[in-house]
Amino acid sequence: MKKYYPFFLFLSLFLSAITVFAQVAKPHELTVEERIKNQFNRISGKVILDYVRELSSDKFEGRLTGTKGYNDAAEWSVSLFKKWGLKPAGGGNSYYQKFPNPYTLVLDSGELSLNIPSGKDTIKKYYKYELDYYPGATSDSGTLTAEVVFVGYGITAPELNYDDYAGIDVKGKIVLFNPEVPFSPDKDPGLFKMWRPYSFHNYKMENAAKHGAAGVLYNYHIVNPNCAFIKGQIHVDIGKTVTDDIFSGTGKTIQELLRKIIDEKRPASFNTGKTVTMRCRTEHNPNGVGLNVIAKIEGIDPALKDEPVIIGAHLDHIGMSDKLMPGANDNASGVSVLYAAAEALSKVNIPFRRSIIFILFGAEEQGVKGSEFYIQNPSVPVEKIKAFLNLESVGRGEIISAGSGKNYPELFNIMESVNNKLVHRKLTASFNSNIARPRQDAAHFLWAKIPSISFGAYGSAPVSVPTYHTTNDKPEYLTPEIMEDLAKIVFLSAIELAEK
Ligand SMILES: [Zn+2]
Repeated sequence: MKKYYPFFLFLSLFLSAITVFAQVAKPHELTVEERIKNQFNRISGKVILDYVRELSSDKFEGRLTGTKGYNDAAEWSVSLFKKWGLKPAGGGNSYYQKFPNPYTLVLDSGELSLNIPSGKDTIKKYYKYELDYYPGATSDSGTLTAEVVFVGYGITAPELNYDDYAGIDVKGKIVLFNPEVPFSPDKDPGLFKMWRPYSFHNYKMENAAKHGAAGVLYNYHIVNPNCAFIKGQIHVDIGKTVTDDIFSGTGKTIQELLRKIIDEKRPASFNTGKTVTMRCRTEHNPNGVGLNVIAKIEGIDPALKDEPVIIGAHLDHIGMSDKLMPGANDNASGVSVLYAAAEALSKVNIPFRRSIIFILFGAEEQGVKGSEFYIQNPSVPVEKIKAFLNLESVGRGEIISAGSGKNYPELFNIMESVNNKLVHRKLTASFNSNIARPRQDAAHFLWAKIPSISFGAYGSAPVSVPTYHTTNDKPEYLTPEIMEDLAKIVFLSAIELAEK
């Protein structure tokens, strides 16, 4: 990467002058500085929040990639990009880049109940949708009543001499396991690397099927479409109320057993003796098609225009799961900040040396698939991409975080400088070792060695209900001020990057 030079003119006030621009401005026209200032001042948190409201409304059905709701959201985005004069950059003359994307619709709230023996009878305890469980977002349809076997992390790793299924029969039963692996990528990176292949949700579901389990209770209480659809496998995502009931009377707790696995690096599987009934009604679409939406402002420098700055955000969310999953923060916020920056950059009416490419990724929620496909099929060779700025769940907070800002300090310095001069928002940078399974679109860009920063937001007072991947990720919990500030930082940083 080329060294970033402090853009001293820019930072002096707005832009006082840039040689290439200076020749453009004629006396009766607005100066470059005035144009930038005008667009900067037009960026509005209210307008951004209106975009969020629209994207997270019923109309787009939670934006699960492959569905009509998602495609409509993509089409609406294209209509905005066209209105602002952005050019198509999805290939050919299209704003769309298509990729294969199987998806599953959840058609109702399903059922989860505990069957409690009482003499010759059984008493049923029904759990509540959302509060206690979600039907698996990639579960097959069906009803299953079976015994529950706890199998730790659901991992079979012969090379690590570890098998949660060793010596325990799960055929026709329901296995209960935890997400992730016993070791954290941040605290134990060395250990984590060895266990990484077992951290994928898909792996765990497939391993359960391989051992003959008929169903899965996943101790991961969110709606999660990043999971395998396996013919005949019923899967339900549960929280503490359900695990407490399943462990009650066994003399063990799930927390204690998970701790033991971590400490002793040995499985702690056992048959809980409890029986549950689970029902899911879903529709799997193996031939789904995903879309990335790609638009650009073309640069004027013959060489640098093919060494673009990319600004990205994932457009998708997790769909309907019976009720609407609005995804206001995740990630209507990021998309709306991108719209605001794109509009300002398209209207600022100054020639950029580099092209600026805007990408709305599909299928982030289904395993970060849209950005993976883009990196495999990029608009320009990946090594020519100057920088990538990602916007991920940026709608709620008091502080802006710049993920991997510490990996790319020259890039972060630009954001920090424009923020310090003109925005004055608290802004923090972090280091990203990026060794875990991909959780953000920036992961694929970082693996491709593209200087990247992934913006987020944090530091708000907590709301009373869980919002992440639930029905409560609503616009009313967002803070428009932080989105406005971030759009301004992205706008100014993109101008600077497009000139370097
Ligand atoms: Zn998400």
